[in-house]
Amino acid sequence: MKLSQRVVGLPPYLFAEIDRRVEEKRRQGVDVINFGVGDPDLPTPSHIVEALCEEAARPEHHRYPSYRGMPRFREAAASWVSRRFGVSLDPETETLALIGSKEGIAHFPLALLDPGDVALVPDPAYPVYRSSTLFCGGVPVELPLHEGNDFLPDLASVPEEVWRKARLLFLNYPNNPTAAVADLAFFEELVHYARAHDVILAHDLAYSEITFDGYVAPSLLEVPGARERTVEFHSLSKTYNMTGWRVGFAVGGAEVIAAFAKVKENIDSGVFNAVQLAAVAALEGPQDCVLDNREVYRRRRDALLEGLRSIGWEVEVPSATLYVWMKVPHGYDSREFTRHLLEKAEIAVAPGSAYGARGEGYVRFSLTLPDERLREGVDRLKKAFS
Ligand SMILES: *Cc1c(COP(=O)(O)O)cnc(C)c1O
Repeated sequence: MKLSQRVVGLPPYLFAEIDRRVEEKRRQGVDVINFGVGDPDLPTPSHIVEALCEEAARPEHHRYPSYRGMPRFREAAASWVSRRFGVSLDPETETLALIGSKEGIAHFPLALLDPGDVALVPDPAYPVYRSSTLFCGGVPVELPLHEGNDFLPDLASVPEEVWRKARLLFLNYPNNPTAAVADLAFFEELVHYARAHDVILAHDLAYSEITFDGYVAPSLLEVPGARERTVEFHSLSKTYNMTGWRVGFAVGGAEVIAAFAKVKENIDSGVFNAVQLAAVAALEGPQDCVLDNREVYRRRRDALLEGLRSIGWEVEVPSATLYVWMKVPHGYDSREFTRHLLEKAEIAVAPGSAYGARGEGYVRFSLTLPDERLREGVDRLKKAFS
């Protein structure tokens, strides 16, 4: 069978590869503890599940939903953004329902890029920014994220010629996989570059609520003048333990959102209304579940950091995300060290190199496994490596 170049040219999707390796071990009877995948282990809060059950029973929701999302859902999204970031949005023109933010990220470049157009893509990064650029014939150009620059792109080092060709720039703070955060001063600098070079900013805010020690993640929309050239992707997946539900939303300038909606009208038919109304229950209901989640991940983060440091491994304390990004010990590369952890301690992690060439030399531990499994994993590491 002749397959498209766009499919043949893609590397295997990272998480599929990790799953395969872990599965192999498990088939051999090994009890692998999986720190590899970032998928919350805790259930969706019950008031959200109850809202779904109630709404799912209503026949009026059983027909096609609207393309852009129910007004009720988009109003809830806009009010949430207003409460959370102090930015007021027109729900009708500046918000759009997504079938999870990944769906939005994967389709958005179709609204912006013609074949040959450049998208600036961080390295390391969530793989979808790059593949979605390639899918529409765009040319991804890497924005290296280095520890020395706090895993922020060094905007001044991007050649003028690249800025001139760039139409789109992806970013993601709090960041997966590095757990880095960005402040408003960086966002202001970024908006300055974007305006000067007519670049659209696509900001993935999947981890805006998974923060610790009093840190509050800003929105790019807080920067005056950013809105016209920004689309921001929000997800309920990590905030409310809703990865399986497939619901999120995009916010941004009306022109960008209108173009994005036009793409989506030709691809999907919206999000099940009952899911949208359950998402309203999440956004507008009691938020103590969000505080509880933060506390769970903080506790796990601290337990893991204590273990890693007691072995003598080098790790920074992350102030956000579900991840600990660790430099591999001297003498290993990412994949070798990942294999070493699996063989010696029966622990699975994600090799940094799978997120891009600049992820080489790191591994990513995820905090989305039950406390007792995480503690057992830490014990195994200490036994194997201390
Ligand atoms: C988990 C994750 C997403 C996907 O979120 P969904 O809303 O579930 O599609 C998006 N971006 C990053 C960086 C993620 O880690």
